[in-house]
Amino acid sequence: MASPPQNIRALKDNLLLEIVWSPEEQVQLPFSFVRGRCPCANCVNEMTGARMVGPNEVDSNVSPVQMGFSGNYALTIEWSDGHHTGLYTWDYLAQIAAEHAAAE
Ligand SMILES: [Zn+2]
Repeated sequence: MASPPQNIRALKDNLLLEIVWSPEEQVQLPFSFVRGRCPCANCVNEMTGARMVGPNEVDSNVSPVQMGFSGNYALTIEWSDGHHTGLYTWDYLAQIAAEHAAAE
């Protein structure tokens, strides 16, 4: 289980979501990457696990208009395209951060 981040910031000038896990461990993920990894049932088929809305389907200039927390286990993001049903658990954020690092 990933522990809760110490800080999460939307760097709107750079279109990056900054997640600070600790002073030594922090990542910056492009908004469109995070939006394209939305884990909700509108974006991923619950039966097959197939991704229906991915990075190619989202606006490259998408940005969060509001962020919040669900309990102490997940980040919620309302995006500029109106989408808001994704629940990004700490584990999931750690997973997509690793995916992003591997793709670089
Ligand atoms: Zn979604």
